[in-house]
Amino acid sequence: MTVPVQEKPKQDNVLLGRSLAQLTEWVRSQGQPPYRGKQLHQWLYQKGARSLVDITVFPKQWREELKAVKIGRSQIHHKSIAPDQTRKYLLRLEDDAIVETVGIPTEKRLTVCVSSQVGCPMTCDFCATGKGEFLRSLKAWEIVDQVLTVQEDFQQRVSNVVFMGMGEPLLNLEEVVASVKTLNEDVGIGQRSLVISTVGVPHRIRQLAEHHLQITFAVSLHAPNQKLRTQLIPSANHYSLEKLMADCRKYVNMTGRRVTFEYILLAGVNDDPQQAIELAKLIQGLQSHVNLIPYNPISEADYQRPNTHSIQQFKHTLEQYKIAVSIRYSRGLEADAACGQLRASTVTPEPTHSEVK
Ligand code: SAH
Repeated sequence: MTVPVQEKPKQDNVLLGRSLAQLTEWVRSQGQPPYRGKQLHQWLYQKGARSLVDITVFPKQWREELKAVKIGRSQIHHKSIAPDQTRKYLLRLEDDAIVETVGIPTEKRLTVCVSSQVGCPMTCDFCATGKGEFLRSLKAWEIVDQVLTVQEDFQQRVSNVVFMGMGEPLLNLEEVVASVKTLNEDVGIGQRSLVISTVGVPHRIRQLAEHHLQITFAVSLHAPNQKLRTQLIPSANHYSLEKLMADCRKYVNMTGRRVTFEYILLAGVNDDPQQAIELAKLIQGLQSHVNLIPYNPISEADYQRPNTHSIQQFKHTLEQYKIAVSIRYSRGLEADAACGQLRASTVTPEPTHSEVK
């Protein structure tokens, strides 16, 4: 009996990203018994094998024959470690493109902030990634590789994955969804421990909702009205706040999951208590949670992070309107590994995210 395959998109000739059924089909095509598929699956996703030659349970002669088969793993080009132990990696992909990944350890968790694209075409004014060049979207297996690389480097199971590195995940929806499935079914990370963050792309929120994933869905809002939002986020010119909010409502209805709204706090730009009230009114009645992100400085923009008092006041105002809100201080700042600081440079890493109530 043949094992059914094709529940995932075709994989450019690399093994990473394939399901157990697809790997089993592949070993059979190589004249091997089906149980080798299970072994291969375990070595790829649990043991992090980088080459088939390393898979010692395979017969020696077959391993020799497999030398040229590509698994699909990147090379660590550069790694920097921030004082808070956040590690930023620059990974070299097969075409020599460099992409960033961040590993964020906390007491009980190891979170990976993955990139979905090399660079980002959205050009948000406060984000270092958008100031650089956009090269291409990543394949699902190139996203999975980032998680396996961090897992290997920390020698610890990854518990959470956030799609908050370089790129706009909804511009690469199919590959992102395929990577979610692999991370969930093959690497073993619960869907609820995955976060997809978007600045919003027309029609794509609905397409994501149609997959009925159990992931956490986050929307980078950053402004309570269309005028200010378009100043900060040029792509908002083609996607009104009104439409974005309508799509968020549909998302909640279709998936039964709440939406997280991310709101970077920029001193004197969007951190006034009046703007908190405007934000509260905008999202009132929608099943949601607000994550306030104090701005992480980047050299290409001259925004300032508000002082602690303004941050607390903004949070307090939202709470008065019964909005669920937390402040997310990024980690990894000293390594340029923090939100918005990711670019393909080896100069510094940025901070990662930790939530404080
Ligand atoms: N394109 C996606 C995912 C990448 S950004 C998105 O926009 O959601 C992940 C988060 O980091 C977003 O909320 C983004 O707005 C935020 N971010 C970008 N630049 C930042 C900066 N300089 N300081 C703090 N957060 C930043």
